[in-house]
Amino acid sequence: MNEFVEQKVALTWTEPKATYDVVIVGGGGHGLATAYYLATRHGITNVAVLERKYIGSGNSGRNTTVIRANYGIPEAVRFYQRSVELYATLEQETDRWIMHKEKGLLWLAHTEAAVRAERARAEINTKFGARTEYVGRKEIAEICPQLDLDGAGVWPILGGSYHPAGATARHDRVVWALAEGAMKRGVHVHQNTAVTGLVKENGRVVGVETTQGRIGAGVVVSAVGGHVTSLGNMAGLRLPIRTHPLQAYVTNHYEMNFDAIVASTSLLFYASQTARGEMLIGAEIDPQPSYSYASGDHFLQSCSFRAMTLLPFLRNLRVLRQWTGVCDMSPDYSPIMGKTEVDGFLITTGWGTWGFKAIPAGGEQMAQLIATGETPELIAPFSLGRFAADRTLADRGSAGTH
Ligand SMILES: Cc1cc2nc3c(=O)[nH]c(=O)nc-3n(C[C@H](O)[C@H](O)[C@H](O)COP(=O)(O)OP(=O)(O)OC[C@H]3O[C@@H](n4cnc5c(N)ncnc54)[C@H](O)[C@@H]3O)c2cc1C
Repeated sequence: MNEFVEQKVALTWTEPKATYDVVIVGGGGHGLATAYYLATRHGITNVAVLERKYIGSGNSGRNTTVIRANYGIPEAVRFYQRSVELYATLEQETDRWIMHKEKGLLWLAHTEAAVRAERARAEINTKFGARTEYVGRKEIAEICPQLDLDGAGVWPILGGSYHPAGATARHDRVVWALAEGAMKRGVHVHQNTAVTGLVKENGRVVGVETTQGRIGAGVVVSAVGGHVTSLGNMAGLRLPIRTHPLQAYVTNHYEMNFDAIVASTSLLFYASQTARGEMLIGAEIDPQPSYSYASGDHFLQSCSFRAMTLLPFLRNLRVLRQWTGVCDMSPDYSPIMGKTEVDGFLITTGWGTWGFKAIPAGGEQMAQLIATGETPELIAPFSLGRFAADRTLADRGSAGTH
């Protein structure tokens, strides 16, 4: 956080207390949203969010900001649709301009199998509340005239699905709005405070060791993004998560008429235009698990080549910035939220390459779980226990980045 931001949003910093009812580890979107909804929906404000660097320094400040609910299984469609709805009113609710904008999301199909997949996506989305329609080449050309429908003669576009609620919001503004909303109601956010250990008594987690000293806790929530296996280790849990880097980049400015968000699973890239006019492009995770934040030429070359196959105008643009985040990838490409076998230790993880869109609903549901002690129906399918029970979710195709 810098002075400019602090003047714009009312963040009040305090000394850590000896103990809190709830300690949330990680000042990304999910940690802050959990605190925000605890305070606003349940009046629980004796809460601390501990962030090892500055809020939004993890993936919540590094993503490509796509919000959508066009997932492939009913459980996921319902959950992400809730998030789409909460995002749509977050600006009004927090009285902060998060630059939320509905753009519509076009998911392209280049093969007969992909056409069938997009038709099925449209059906299942609409049935479970997230309107999506199958579109042909003519409609695709109207939605995004910059597309080369012939795919450079290599990847012709045969059809696609169109999800009108697809949107973007400025990522760091989302983080700041949630932090401000929580802090205004009495939640403490402590930056530069890394959790280095968990304090356990009789098998229950009762606090955290931090670089600023020990803090007691009624409940500890891990919301640490790609670093979750370290927190899990501290609790004595082996989590089914691998951490993979994910890179993205922006180009210099293009005329402001690229309105939709465009994605192609076959070509493993997606693109949208930022409010400044840059083309913002993302792709699949790096194949090698790692905690490295390094960005590389290989990614740029390979991703740009694929993107230019469909968007030839990109040839005339230059890469302006490139960056990387580290993603908590679960085996079934779905989140993991809720209680663990360790008493007093909850997790919200497995957000991989898709967790920005989930921030409001993830926070809302985790807050409800903490407040009531009961797992809300909306997130019950995403429990950690599903792996041991052999009930993993069949939604890998929805990530669009593998
Ligand atoms: C390049 C890229 C593009 C993406 N694009 C999209 C997209 O378009 N749409 C989408 O929905 N999702 C996208 N994602 C994924 C999304 O950004 C993440 O899933 C989401 O931000 C996760 O939020 P989080 O709060 O769980 O984690 P984070 O935002 O990573 O926050 C975790 C925080 O925990 C802190 N922390 C870690 N260890 C400790 C510790 N020991 N003590 C204290 N604090 C600690 C970290 O510093 C960090 O600030 C993208 C990700 C990347 C990297």
